Amino acid sequence: MRIDLHTHSSASDGTDTPGDLVREAAAAGLDVVALTDHDAMSGWAEAQRAADEAGITLVPGLEISTTFRHRGVHLLGYLPDPAYPPLVAVLDRILAGRTARTPAMVAALQARGIAITEDDVRREAGGSVAAGRPHVADALVRMGIVADRTEAFHVLLNPGRPGYVDRYAVPLEEMIPILAAAGGVAVIAHPWGRSGGSVLDEAALASLKELGLAGIEVDHQDHSPAFRARLRSIATDLDLVVTGSSDHHGLGKVGHDLGVNTTDPEQYERLLSLAGRPLGG
Ligand code: AMP
Ligand code: ZN
Ligand code: FE
Ligand code: FE
Repeated sequence: MRIDLHTHSSASDGTDTPGDLVREAAAAGLDVVALTDHDAMSGWAEAQRAADEAGITLVPGLEISTTFRHRGVHLLGYLPDPAYPPLVAVLDRILAGRTARTPAMVAALQARGIAITEDDVRREAGGSVAAGRPHVADALVRMGIVADRTEAFHVLLNPGRPGYVDRYAVPLEEMIPILAAAGGVAVIAHPWGRSGGSVLDEAALASLKELGLAGIEVDHQDHSPAFRARLRSIATDLDLVVTGSSDHHGLGKVGHDLGVNTTDPEQYERLLSLAGRPLGG
């Protein structure tokens, strides 16, 4: 059984529609795929229809923008009740921050002499509810200013570069209990990847487990073999679920093909058994 628990569609910053993503997952030989768009659940219905037709299992999820000790941390949530009011309220606030950031990024780039407009970005964002830097990057590529998303981030969109603008993210210690109360399973995405860095050490993960953290994503392209080995041993110590995934973004991210990393079936079963059980319930 091949299981990929972290992918993005055009509901956030992936380039495949949710339906196409699921069909590609089936074609790639996956039996289970989770759709985990940034701060959004709007792709679930289309993905579920495609999964039913393709005969594979869809795990509805999302990847929430959080902060922990002044660093950005991505929190994967699986199978939460999408109507749970505190979850809806947090996502509304994050998405409002994303929406407000677009004109600020456009203005910052215009101030550097780049003739980009909000409409250019909106066109790239298409049906996404989670407007983001990748859509600004796509507009810059279309204008011929950079070659691809990677160059756009390095030259213009990463922190410290001219087009970077901060946005709201929810404190991780607030978000984990909300996800758990929504019946969801909380798993930290790429804990030692680009942004999480060294703040998520074993002591920090132990304290987050007390709040309801269920697992950590270990097998991810941002993690070296040494990081994976160390994270796996921390997960064993703390009895956390271990996941693996592609973090596929369609054509938006190279080296993240569907199924490039996968989750062990036993770990997946553990994750499923934790869903639908609010903290303390
Ligand atoms: P945002 O959420 O709008 O702040 O943008 C962050 C998103 O950009 C993340 O989901 C990453 O997947 C994506 N991203 C970050 N760096 C790069 C890069 N160098 N190339 C392509 N995508 C990137
Ligand atoms: Zn992304
Ligand atoms: Fe992420
Ligand atoms: Fe992701």
